[in-house]
Amino acid sequence: MNKLSSYLSQLSQWAARGLDLLYPRSAGCPLCRSFDCSCGEKILSAYHERTACSRCGKFLARAGTCSDCASRGNGFPDRVWALAPYEGSLRDALHRFKYHGDKRAGRFLAGLLLAGPGSEADRPDLVIPVPLHPSRLKQRGYNQALLLAESLAFSWQVELDHTVLQRTALTQPQSNLGRSGRLANLGGAFRLADKGRVRGKKVLLVDDIITTGSTLEACGALLRQAGTTGLQAVCVAAGRQAGRETDNFS
Ligand SMILES: [Zn+2]
Ligand SMILES: [Zn+2]
Repeated sequence: MNKLSSYLSQLSQWAARGLDLLYPRSAGCPLCRSFDCSCGEKILSAYHERTACSRCGKFLARAGTCSDCASRGNGFPDRVWALAPYEGSLRDALHRFKYHGDKRAGRFLAGLLLAGPGSEADRPDLVIPVPLHPSRLKQRGYNQALLLAESLAFSWQVELDHTVLQRTALTQPQSNLGRSGRLANLGGAFRLADKGRVRGKKVLLVDDIITTGSTLEACGALLRQAGTTGLQAVCVAAGRQAGRETDNFS
């Protein structure tokens, strides 16, 4: 069985475990609303054929590492995998999941995350979602990264901890800041409630999207300081970076 068939087989196994019950076909595909499409298969097939940064998973015009990864801090994960570029119907579905409570879209994306990036990441000892600040959690009612992380941890039967890593500062929106601004904005924005919980563990961080990677780097710095032995991350979406090294996606 080739790699793609293996991904698709994992996806169908996932479906057999209850996706049909969770996302009734009567509601159509979370991406295109059609009742007869192959959006999931297409995303996985594009994932398999992608050209992406070998460190952060950002989609590139040619193979290699991106310009951001030329100067990563110590906290950045050893490896990050992203399912698809942040664009088109996937971007819309992720937006509905994150801001409008569309959990059906979220679980559809979680199934793809498992079958794509989840099939490549090392099996961790502990899955940790990137946390939301409590006030944002209260406002939104759920943490989108936790819902994704739960799907992975449940499927792999590994531990999930959504309380050990905490967001202590409500930072200003990151979208208008460059990479150095984002890192400065995030300085001290997270804390670890219990260093012993992660010491000696292989940790997988889960987030919905990676842009510059500053959030994963800030979280990773705390985990590494506490003695995490391996650190990887998976995300649903990542940006694209053009071929020129001077281009800076943000
Ligand atoms: Zn579709
Ligand atoms: Zn990179």
